[in-house]
Amino acid sequence: MEGHGPSAYAGAMSTGASFDLVIRGAAVADGLGAPLAIADVAVRGDRIVAVGEVAGRGGVEIDGAGKVLAPGFIDVHTHDDWAVLAEPQHACKVLQGCTSIVVGNCGTSIAPGGEQVVARGGGFESIGAYLEALDNDPASVNTAALVGHGSVRTSVIGLRDNRPATEGELSAMRALVERAMVDGAVGLSSGLIYEPGKYAPEAELVALAGVAAAAGALYTTHMRNEGVGLLDSIAETVRLAEQTGVRVQISHHKASGRGAWGLVTQSLALIDAACAAGLDVMADQYPYTRGSTLLEQIVRAGELHGFGPEGDLTPAQVLIGAAPHHPEWEGRTLTELAEEWGCDGRAAADRVVAEEGRGCIVVLDTMTEADVETVMAHPSTLIGSDGIPLGGKPHPRLHHTFPRVLGHYAREKGVFSLETAISRMTGLSARRFGLADRGEVREGAYADLVLFDPDVIADTGTFTDPTTVPAGIDRVWVNGVCVAADGEHTGARPGRALRFSR
Ligand SMILES: [Zn+2]
Repeated sequence: MEGHGPSAYAGAMSTGASFDLVIRGAAVADGLGAPLAIADVAVRGDRIVAVGEVAGRGGVEIDGAGKVLAPGFIDVHTHDDWAVLAEPQHACKVLQGCTSIVVGNCGTSIAPGGEQVVARGGGFESIGAYLEALDNDPASVNTAALVGHGSVRTSVIGLRDNRPATEGELSAMRALVERAMVDGAVGLSSGLIYEPGKYAPEAELVALAGVAAAAGALYTTHMRNEGVGLLDSIAETVRLAEQTGVRVQISHHKASGRGAWGLVTQSLALIDAACAAGLDVMADQYPYTRGSTLLEQIVRAGELHGFGPEGDLTPAQVLIGAAPHHPEWEGRTLTELAEEWGCDGRAAADRVVAEEGRGCIVVLDTMTEADVETVMAHPSTLIGSDGIPLGGKPHPRLHHTFPRVLGHYAREKGVFSLETAISRMTGLSARRFGLADRGEVREGAYADLVLFDPDVIADTGTFTDPTTVPAGIDRVWVNGVCVAADGEHTGARPGRALRFSR
């Protein structure tokens, strides 16, 4: 049996083995982009203790010949704050080789919740309390947390108050962000298309991002406009970096809507220019031409009427991913529902929002493949799924992001080498988000590992069947413990809460 927790170490010793686990003869990816090199990797307890030719025996011996051994993938862009508690095995991520996640993106985090939210069990009073809950009842993956500007603003001002903060409110928000930084949050996130993020004037964001900057943490942002206003959004983000010195991570870098296609060449040039001027600006991306968000957001922003931050959408481009009260709507487009109901697509959208509210998540066909590849090839881009773990037909990025990058984009399309692709989902991600000793295969690093077949690894999920198991992933270990083997979860939950380390 493979190691399942602290007893594994003692077990290996008592059988006379030198190590708990040795994976032999795999092509090892270091996580920082060095060429693959055949080596044995030995693990004792939760750490990698030898890389090279390993003489001693492992309590568990794995033959890695013909396979790639990489650091476990780090999903830097998730909305898994609640899911990782409710379903701690977190199979959607584990089975795609993911060993660590960053929650709290796009301005929404599980903490700080206002008193009422905490009282009805919808959140935590602080990031510290959340991380402690994960320490006490571990998940299968490691979890790091961003604190969401929207959650901070909601707990001080409310969700729908369309006004600037008063001095007193601003200092209350600053105090909450400071507390999150002390608690080990890896940064502050914003969601500037959503309520309440869109009500925040630039000065409020500057004030709060300044708190993250003082802690050395990140500011991640779902910008105000990813459609025809993309370049203005990048300019606003770069201004914020100039004013605060904060390290900036642009969320899901894309050009959304036909009118915006091609703008990524210029947005990447703006990122390059900012970096050349001494600022620290990067981005993350999910590997699909379709996005996913709240239907309510689309309707309120007027996107079905030809305007809004995602550009213009037709009802045929909008597929229902989650409809908790009407699962029979999931997997169908607004056009299909409109035909059934004898109305037009906008009326169908209004009906869905009236019945589902913020519970309805949709998948949107808004991007072009050339832009996705252009962004991915650029060195400023890390990989994050942006998966939303709700409903029966979630966007397939939830289950398939990392195998898709390695299979479709690296192997088949040649957007970048396998080693580079891996580095953008492991070592570079860990350094950017302050996850010490993660994301690398080297002596002393945590034994977060994934063993996969480089000729086979692939996404298998589609928009109508999105929750399948990806192909080609043999084994996944978190902190030295096997969490998945041959596409099956082992049930082990060795994950830890990760706190920011500068
Ligand atoms: Zn977002």
